[in-house]
Amino acid sequence: MTAPAFLDVRNVSRHFGHFKALSDVTVSFAPNQLTAIIGPNGAGKSTFFNVLSGALTPTTGEIFFQGQNITGLAPHEYARRGIAKSFQITNVFKQLSVHENVRVAAQMRYSRFDILTPRHQLREAIDEANALLERVGLIQLRDKTVADLAHGQQRSLEIAMALAASPKLLLMDEPTAGMSPQETTAMMDLIVELAEERTVILVEHKMKLVMGICERLIVLHHGEFLAQGTPEDIRNNDEVRRVYLGQG
Ligand code: ADP
Ligand code: MG
Repeated sequence: MTAPAFLDVRNVSRHFGHFKALSDVTVSFAPNQLTAIIGPNGAGKSTFFNVLSGALTPTTGEIFFQGQNITGLAPHEYARRGIAKSFQITNVFKQLSVHENVRVAAQMRYSRFDILTPRHQLREAIDEANALLERVGLIQLRDKTVADLAHGQQRSLEIAMALAASPKLLLMDEPTAGMSPQETTAMMDLIVELAEERTVILVEHKMKLVMGICERLIVLHHGEFLAQGTPEDIRNNDEVRRVYLGQG
């Protein structure tokens, strides 16, 4: 027996009615790697992301995380096992401050169902929120109301909140969407840093953006697995080129 992969996706499909957004995808992920899932618009990337994060149950197939079958578990079970996604703007309290949002996310870890947090844990959560805001470059904005942040700053806040759960696996769907070139560069730098300590799977439409930072790429096309390999492999893959040229 070989050791189980960190994350194992086996024959996973997701249908919407008769439409197959994802067809029989089998792929596995090693720990502490930065992998990008790429492909043209409509390739099934977000569907794959939603299946990995537990937001969508696969129509067929199974997902194993650290050797355990997690297929069909509730989203909070994914979170409890250490799988976090950064696109969680729905969990952000827009009228609270940047710091309060991250503090609440940090508190969730020890007191998920308790209204009262003991004083020492509150202190820890406050300190942790400060450290996370420092990490994502938002410490200067800690007392701002979230509603007053720029788009790119809100995306950074989502990452700080995702990190508050100390995830083993961090999933991101187009983290630089809508960002300025400066914000994009800063976000890419942050992602590289984050991937030094945990497994990161990044969904990205713009192939060029991830070529320089990822150890491995997986290419989807029409909901099917098309190719995987190093940036070098993918750059030299004729089928991948054709698919990307085809979209104009
Ligand atoms: P990508 O993120 O690569 O652009 P998506 O995973 O969002 O692709 O979508 C893949 C295909 O599945 C698209 O054709 C899209 O219209 C379809 N699709 C995605 N979500 C749904 C849904 N909830 N219902 C019906 N069709 C969907
Ligand atoms: Mg998408």
